[in-house]
Amino acid sequence: MLKEAVTSLPEDVLSALKKAEKNERSEIARTQLRTILNNIDAADSMAVPMCQDTGIHVFFVSGRITPGIEDKIRAGTLRATNEIPLRPNAVHPLTRENPGTNVAEGLPYVVFHPSSADYTEITVMPKGAGSENMTALAMLTPSQGIKGIKKFILDTVVNAAGKPCPPIILGIGIGGTADEATALSKKALLRSLDQRNADQSVAELESDLYEALNMTGIGPMGLGGDTTTLGVNIEIAYCHTASLPVAVNLQCWAGRRATARIYADGTVEYLTRGGSE
Ligand code: SF4
Repeated sequence: MLKEAVTSLPEDVLSALKKAEKNERSEIARTQLRTILNNIDAADSMAVPMCQDTGIHVFFVSGRITPGIEDKIRAGTLRATNEIPLRPNAVHPLTRENPGTNVAEGLPYVVFHPSSADYTEITVMPKGAGSENMTALAMLTPSQGIKGIKKFILDTVVNAAGKPCPPIILGIGIGGTADEATALSKKALLRSLDQRNADQSVAELESDLYEALNMTGIGPMGLGGDTTTLGVNIEIAYCHTASLPVAVNLQCWAGRRATARIYADGTVEYLTRGGSE
């Protein structure tokens, strides 16, 4: 799954990039998008990572959770680091010592959502620092409302400018507690770009933000153009009547993720690119 994630993009992200290249009015922006698409093609056909920053690795595990699964994920990450290979990005936060393995205290980061399903579903999201470093959280007051939410998100994207390698994908978490909003903002990046939130008021905010962000003129790689974002996904949770937490997790054009399901008989179904074994 890690190899699939770092060498090829999910179909929804790839089509959003192709559509953007077709619709761009700026020559510089079109050149940037063409270069990105050529790079993706080359990575896919040569089975090498599409970006030198192969990220730190976030795993979402849902359904049937079997004992020892986290150890297996850590072992798989170590193997992928050696065999693909992946750049060893994980360092101690204070000493900056690098064990060279991408496996250390707290990494890979594994998020569990157990359910009664008879399979285990795993998604891996390699997350580069350029986009992750632009993450922002605001504890707004309820009176700031939807206007305040839009201003905070627009300010975050405008301040980030070219740093997160646009065109970006926005994962936004609204509500819950501060940590829940942040977790929701990353979870929002798992949803396909062509799916709107089922809640109509949230879906409208997704569309409004998508249009507004593409009018900022930041453009691909921050060099100007019509394409600043490929998609805006929002997840919500109910919150305290006195709170309005909003978190934004940015994802670069390399919106990498791969999902598979493992059934009780050992069959593995690859959901992102298809196929099973
Ligand atoms: S932000 Fe994304 S595209 Fe830019 S260097 Fe990092 S992983 Fe690569």
